[in-house]
Amino acid sequence: MRPLAFTAPCVVLAITMWYVGAQSKPDSSSVTGNHASSPISVILISVDGLRPDAITKLGANTVPNFYRLRREGAFTDNARSAKDYTITLPNHTGMITGRLVTGYDGHNWTTNRDTEFPPDVTLHKQKGSYLDSVFAGAHDHGFRTALFASKSKFSLFDVSYNSANGAEDMIAPDNGRDKIDVFEFKNRSENVIDKLERAMKKDVFDFLMLHIRNPDTAGHVFKWNTEIPSPYMASVRKADELLGDVFEQIEDNSTWKGRTYLVVTTDHGGATGEKQHKANQNPENYTIPFFVWGPGIPAGADLYALNPETRQDPGSQNPALDEGVQPIRNAGAGNLCLDLLGVPAISGSTVNAMQDLKVKALTQ
Ligand SMILES: [Zn+2]
Repeated sequence: MRPLAFTAPCVVLAITMWYVGAQSKPDSSSVTGNHASSPISVILISVDGLRPDAITKLGANTVPNFYRLRREGAFTDNARSAKDYTITLPNHTGMITGRLVTGYDGHNWTTNRDTEFPPDVTLHKQKGSYLDSVFAGAHDHGFRTALFASKSKFSLFDVSYNSANGAEDMIAPDNGRDKIDVFEFKNRSENVIDKLERAMKKDVFDFLMLHIRNPDTAGHVFKWNTEIPSPYMASVRKADELLGDVFEQIEDNSTWKGRTYLVVTTDHGGATGEKQHKANQNPENYTIPFFVWGPGIPAGADLYALNPETRQDPGSQNPALDEGVQPIRNAGAGNLCLDLLGVPAISGSTVNAMQDLKVKALTQ
């Protein structure tokens, strides 16, 4: 049972139609007029290849925006990526489907090539059955959705949930099969943020996913090296600046200010001194940060302390799904975002499927 404080009476109170911008996708079949607008917005940010100890080594003066998440929000430096795969697409697929990678309940997307996916390659085809997602859950409940990404491989999600491959909306009113209202891709994170800044000035999304690639790119080119100075640490500083740009848009625009949640995590870390993050047994690859910031989120709270019965700090391990009390995982992000929006869990999901990851202090 979810605490009442989590359940925003979104649809009933959906009387304010904030979004005035045109959809940027010419092929979108979404019926924008049917979209409800939530009392809140949720932005899920994945900073690709971000190690939590990079943030703490750089410190509050150097990465003030990550520290703002720590100071004003609830967080942990010891969340987990998927068990079997510490690479990009499998973990981002986990975030949006609420599943781990392998097994009967896994989403089963295991490859990671960087490419623009053709229209006949989808998550569903790989799985052999339709995979529900955070985009579908939000969109079917009348919410406006967007994905801003800095790697071409994220086209997999746009293709999987477009007007041809997304499932019919069975929850009246019919908001269409295209579950991602706006999809933007630019190869440089700075250009993605430029696009996002322009969008946030004229538009409001109820659920938005943003992908920032800089730490991963620096790690692959120059090694994951947390000594200061190093290209990797400079890239984390750059990611902090881009996060600051998002904070600025939230605060400069009355349509976002005071009603926006940030859920910030990553797909994987990276192995010290190496240019890769593939070894799924290496704690440096599977140890990741997880932050939640927004109205009612207790300042500086430890996410494990907020969830003493349902989540357990895994120490240096990455337990399997059937190995006792679970850690906080990046794959729980999608169901958390829907929970904040007052939308039920992603069907078929296994991570945070009870939407029992508490991010607010109990008030009743
Ligand atoms: Zn990655």
